[in-house]
Amino acid sequence: MDEYEKLLKKAQDELPKDKLNKERFILPKFSSHIEGNKTVLKNIDEVSKKIRRNADHLIKFMASELASQGIKSGTFCTFIGKFPNSLVNKKLEKYITMFVLCPSCKKPDTTIIKIERISFIKCEACGARNPIR
Ligand SMILES: [Zn+2]
Repeated sequence: MDEYEKLLKKAQDELPKDKLNKERFILPKFSSHIEGNKTVLKNIDEVSKKIRRNADHLIKFMASELASQGIKSGTFCTFIGKFPNSLVNKKLEKYITMFVLCPSCKKPDTTIIKIERISFIKCEACGARNPIR
């Protein structure tokens, strides 16, 4: 196989997979604004619904990542401190990688199950069960 063929094959191998993943799951984003010395996440319910996780679990994670405290009121969640939108969404991406995407097939169709105090990500797409780090 010459270089050109190798490149072509590589391109073919990589292309469809990437495309498929992107089409399947669009990462939800927080919409947020800073109010005085607080940061308001305006769509915490919507985001947690989209990733099928408990809003309180997500808030707890955000609070520990931001070294802050989250106070939920209605569909809003307020954190003490000024956090730019890019930062809160970076944390959200981290949450999704840790708790939502299947480590085996990277699909988001998962649930969290607990077996003897250990939490697992159970994947509905491929059936894998991976412990949460
Ligand atoms: Zn899977």
